[in-house]
Amino acid sequence: MAESKNYDIIIVGGGPAGLACGQYSARAGRNTVIIEEMAPGGQAMIIDEIENYPGLEKLSGYELASKFEQQATGFGCQIAYATVNSINRLEDGSFSLDTSDGEYLSPVVVIATGAKHRNLEVPGEKEMIGHGVSYCATCDGPFFRKKKILVCGGGDSACQESMYLRKLSDDVTVTHRRDRFRAQASIVKAMEDAGIKTKMNTTVQSINSENNRVRSVTFLDKSTGKTYTEDFDGVFIFVGSIPQTQLVPDCEKDQAGFIKTDSHMMTSIPGMYAIGDVRDTAFRQIVTAAADGAIAAHYASEYIDARNNNSY
Ligand code: NAP
Repeated sequence: MAESKNYDIIIVGGGPAGLACGQYSARAGRNTVIIEEMAPGGQAMIIDEIENYPGLEKLSGYELASKFEQQATGFGCQIAYATVNSINRLEDGSFSLDTSDGEYLSPVVVIATGAKHRNLEVPGEKEMIGHGVSYCATCDGPFFRKKKILVCGGGDSACQESMYLRKLSDDVTVTHRRDRFRAQASIVKAMEDAGIKTKMNTTVQSINSENNRVRSVTFLDKSTGKTYTEDFDGVFIFVGSIPQTQLVPDCEKDQAGFIKTDSHMMTSIPGMYAIGDVRDTAFRQIVTAAADGAIAAHYASEYIDARNNNSY
């Protein structure tokens, strides 16, 4: 039987939160591993342009994620490419992780699994994924160069990604179910300045296809109660995210399923921390995810000392 791998801190998920946590933890001398299923960087990897990360000029999500990774590994944080199957709390309060790379053990586990996109749940959406429906502007936008594009959602993602799509097409419309955007005012202003059209107070009823491609979208104008159909070639959906908590042992969560933590990022389970997009927090940014990681690393280290002194 393969031997278990022992660490001081195991971080599950290698997005900005996990990488920042790995950096701080390794730099503090803790034997640290990030377990990541795919490439480190998380959702940041698909951001075309980041202009608000303090201290850095405009750069792509890929570039920023690479910097995070280099800094973390430079301080000695290890990255293991594996799938975590389950996380179990042992009788002594430490954790055992069953992974595709065998068993990992540690007194602290940090959940940095992020969130994945939410579906709009309208007829035609699932059927047209890859045929005109997309959840990633950077990945699929170039297929819709000079085409008619619809963006669904009213948050920062919808408004910001619409600006990337506007570079590819003169005809971009954002539709939102309410009469006010949820996105930050500066992003809404930039979107309006970029000449992006809006359909407010409007819901998508269906995404219609022809010859296995998106052809049109049927809307309900909530202010008039009328439905109408308009031609579109591509539909990009950014209607929020769902926290990735399937693996997480039973702990306190908010109504939407995001993990609740204290100000040290500790969950309701001693020794288990949650950081970044998976956490119940009001403002989700790369910089706040990184800050979560730093805070968790700091207090997890204190927790380990207290545990070793039998004072926890
Ligand atoms: P979000 O802030 O949760 O916004 C989701 C949007 O989708 C909301 O406008 C919501 O409408 C709408 N929506 C939700 N379910 C819907 C449905 N079934 N049908 C139609 N519309 C629906 O999600 P996000 O924009 O992905 O942002 C996630 C987090 O990342 C946020 O904290 C955001 O600040 C952050 N972020 C920041 C930046 C940046 O700073 N540059 C960029 C991207 C994301 P309601 O408004 O009516 O609820």
